[in-house]
Amino acid sequence: MEVENKHIIIKHAIDGLPTESDFELRSTPLVLSVAQGSKEVVVKNLFLSIDPYQLNRMKTCSSSQKTFAAAARIQPGQRIDAFGVGKVVVSGNEEFERDDVVVGLLAWEEYTVVRPGTTLTKVDPHEFPLSYHVSILGPSGLTAYAGFYDICKPKKGEKVFVSTASGSVGSLVGQYAKLSGCYVVGCAGSKTKVDLLKEKLGFDDAFNYKEEPDLKSALRRYFPEGIDIYFDNVGSAMLDAAVANMNLFGRVALCGAISEYTDAGKRAALDMVDVIYKRITLRGFLALDHLNLYAGFISSTSDHLRHGRMRAVEDISTGLESVPSAFAGLFRGDNVGKKLVQLTSL
Ligand code: NAP
Repeated sequence: MEVENKHIIIKHAIDGLPTESDFELRSTPLVLSVAQGSKEVVVKNLFLSIDPYQLNRMKTCSSSQKTFAAAARIQPGQRIDAFGVGKVVVSGNEEFERDDVVVGLLAWEEYTVVRPGTTLTKVDPHEFPLSYHVSILGPSGLTAYAGFYDICKPKKGEKVFVSTASGSVGSLVGQYAKLSGCYVVGCAGSKTKVDLLKEKLGFDDAFNYKEEPDLKSALRRYFPEGIDIYFDNVGSAMLDAAVANMNLFGRVALCGAISEYTDAGKRAALDMVDVIYKRITLRGFLALDHLNLYAGFISSTSDHLRHGRMRAVEDISTGLESVPSAFAGLFRGDNVGKKLVQLTSL
């Protein structure tokens, strides 16, 4: 059988704020079969992940593009790989069969031909909503778990600050921090998001950073005894302000720098003397370096979900054509929780 496989491409490199008009929906014919002995698997995509880091791949040039394969530059017109969950349509690989539900590296398209060597794993489609395998039980969850436990090394009673706290990663970091007995304050970009943090996700406090003209004094207000752990998703001025308020031996997990992705002129300008004398650890990390934690992450997070101790916050758009607005929306702060696009149901 042959189908028209719709996919999303960028029309040109994107070096500032992305907009919907930077993208185009295209279509190419795809035969739903695999050549004998090819080991390929054809997957019908159900949920696709929409992630800020993809913007660094769409730029003319970014230092991140040469670090590893999954960060490589996306050329205009090229298929855009992305994490997702889907259903096997046809398989040349004996590990998978038709109708298996799988998660792995798919693409912003309706069907993906997964080549041998590409990450693809079967999941149980019954216990949790399928979308959870891209959000709380997927890469966002592992990022929050590894960054918080392995990089921040929390101790009960410590004071934790999380930026972009209502987002995919931040909303989970705050929940892990509360489960670890920490005092947690988050910042986010709207009243709705701040209310979510305080009323639904158990944060001790939260504030709208857009209403704070002086971030350093805002953090001094929220942390009169100083910050022990800062989980940084934004970089630039917020990182400066957090470091200025850190306690001795504070830890900063440098997870993302979204405010710098769209504006290369925005850079943190840390007071390095402060960093040295307060013996602060600042550590960049990537979730993919912490796959050794994967089994523990899945089992503990699944258990928290089963017992209602954690909740997934998801923001789901419908249809492949909504991918450009879903992606551009990340940089306008449109999303609340993990941004996903659902293409079809099981
Ligand atoms: P997300 O927080 O769900 O969505 C992006 C959010 O960023 C927006 O909703 C918006 O929230 C905020 N934002 C957008 N532009 C901003 C700006 N100029 N200044 C400040 N905030 C801005 O995204 P996510 O997937 O959880 O990713 C969060 C961060 O973690 C990103 O920097 C991402 O690149 C990084 N990340 C790192 C890893 C890793 O392995 N190290 C893995 C996944 C993600 P507000 O309305 O609150 O501003």
